[in-house]
Amino acid sequence: MQISTTLSTTAVDDARLAEILAEPGFGTHFTDHMFTVEWTPEKGWHDARITPYGPITLDPATAVLHYAQETFEGMKAYRREDGSVWTFRPEANAARMARSSDRLALPVLPIEDFVAAVDALVKVDERWVPDAAGEKSLYLRPFMFASEKFLGVRPSQHVTFMVIASPAGAYFKGGLKPVSLWLTTEYTRAGRGGMGAAKTGGNYASSLVAQQEAYANGCDQVVFLDAQEGRYVEELGGMNMYFVYADGRVVTPETGTILEGITRASIIELAGKLGHPVEERRISIDEWRDGVASGDIVEIFACGTAAVVTPVGSLKWDGGETPAPTVEAGPLTSKIRAALVDVQFGRADDTFGWMHRVV
Ligand SMILES: *Cc1c(COP(=O)(O)O)cnc(C)c1O
Repeated sequence: MQISTTLSTTAVDDARLAEILAEPGFGTHFTDHMFTVEWTPEKGWHDARITPYGPITLDPATAVLHYAQETFEGMKAYRREDGSVWTFRPEANAARMARSSDRLALPVLPIEDFVAAVDALVKVDERWVPDAAGEKSLYLRPFMFASEKFLGVRPSQHVTFMVIASPAGAYFKGGLKPVSLWLTTEYTRAGRGGMGAAKTGGNYASSLVAQQEAYANGCDQVVFLDAQEGRYVEELGGMNMYFVYADGRVVTPETGTILEGITRASIIELAGKLGHPVEERRISIDEWRDGVASGDIVEIFACGTAAVVTPVGSLKWDGGETPAPTVEAGPLTSKIRAALVDVQFGRADDTFGWMHRVV
């Protein structure tokens, strides 16, 4: 893939950039450039380019605005003490986007092109990667959408893939205190044969009303159960779940209708290395409730790229509540979080070969 570059003439100045990086928040500030490549059946992927960041013009009949044919990814670039910049398992994000795109009848962007696109943007906007202090990073958002102007219902014949980047601080403003969860019994996020395993905006759109219900009930996040029986824990709106048992076992819901997180997959390997075998299986809401009550479940946490590892506190539903197993992050939660973050920032040996150097 040949990438042309048009540099911004209105790049944010150093003083303003320092201000932004001191307090980046999440998803509000964007870098000076963006990456774009387009696809048509005749030409395949073509016209790859880095251009100044800015609005894109879409015809009101653009397919994605009507039928939501789109996929996205979330990943981060981390700066090390020595100034070098690295991404974490970018091929895994590329492979997942390929799977998501297959499900959404979008063309597959080859893994090496996905990685090259992300690398190109990180390189051109390298000054936007925050210093290692405070676990800040540059959040990267690759996304692909049906950009054909057509209202008929069929896979789009024009597709656009882009990457944008946004400096990120802590995802949850409260820091590492447990998030409280709302158990929705009315809404589900994924059924058999549906899009649950694809990273696509529609899954998020359908989760928002349940998230709203969570806020209305004083909870931070919503947890979804399986669509078939309404008994088994699936995941949060955008994070996978882990349960730690008193005997050291760790359980995470099995895949199928959940979105297979790269953080989730990495924790399976890390926990194993720390001597905690991980069981991927169904876990019912009764097992959760009874396990916390009996002291069998000693820690619960959620994980994903944006928030890394976050302890889970109480679980509330219409008519009841299960208390938090821990008041703070539990010992294994903290250990796993530290092990992961240390690899990402290059403070620990990358024994799994997860890191990819960009700068
Ligand atoms: C992205 C996402 C996750 C977490 O995946 P990571 O690769 O770990 O960031 C979990 N659940 C859903 C629904 C997601 O979209």
